Amino acid sequence: MPEGFLKITYHYAPAGSAKKLNIFVPMPSDQFDHLYSEIERYLFEKRDLPVCNFRIYWIDSDSDEIDLSNQRDYVIFLAKCEKNMHLHIAIDDDLSNFITHKGIECDSCKACPLIGFRYRCMQCPNFDLCQACESAHKHPKHFMVRIPANQHRA
Ligand SMILES: [Zn+2]
Ligand SMILES: [Zn+2]
Repeated sequence: MPEGFLKITYHYAPAGSAKKLNIFVPMPSDQFDHLYSEIERYLFEKRDLPVCNFRIYWIDSDSDEIDLSNQRDYVIFLAKCEKNMHLHIAIDDDLSNFITHKGIECDSCKACPLIGFRYRCMQCPNFDLCQACESAHKHPKHFMVRIPANQHRA
C-alpha cells in the first residue's frame, strides 16, 4: 500500500460553477470501501458539508476522467497514480441509484422492487430489467430504454 497523502478535490457546486475544495488526507487504505467511507466521514461529518451522492474519478495522462467506483478501479488508480494521488469528487445529481420502483420486478433476476435505473424493453410488453441485468446483457436481442429518473419515484 502506498504511503503518504491523497489529494482530494471536491467539486461541491452544481456543474457550471467552479466551487471546489482541495484537501489532503492520509492515504486511508487500499480498500475502496474504506476510502469511500473515509471520504464520506471527512466531507459530511468533519466538514459538515451537505450530504449528497457523489462520484469519484481521477484524471489520467490524456486528461480523461476515469471513474472510480469499485475495488478494481481503485487498484488501477493506485497502480497508475502512485506518484500523484489525486482524486476528484463531484456531486452526483442523478439520484437514480436510490430510486425504488415499487411493484416493479426485474424480469431477469426477479428483484422486486427494482432499485436503481429501470430499463424497459421496447418490443416486449411489460418487460423490465434492473441496472445490473441490463449491463450484463440479459435481454440482448431487444432495444432497452432507461425509464427517466423522475418517474416512478417511490
Ligand atoms: Zn435484474
Ligand atoms: Zn424484449
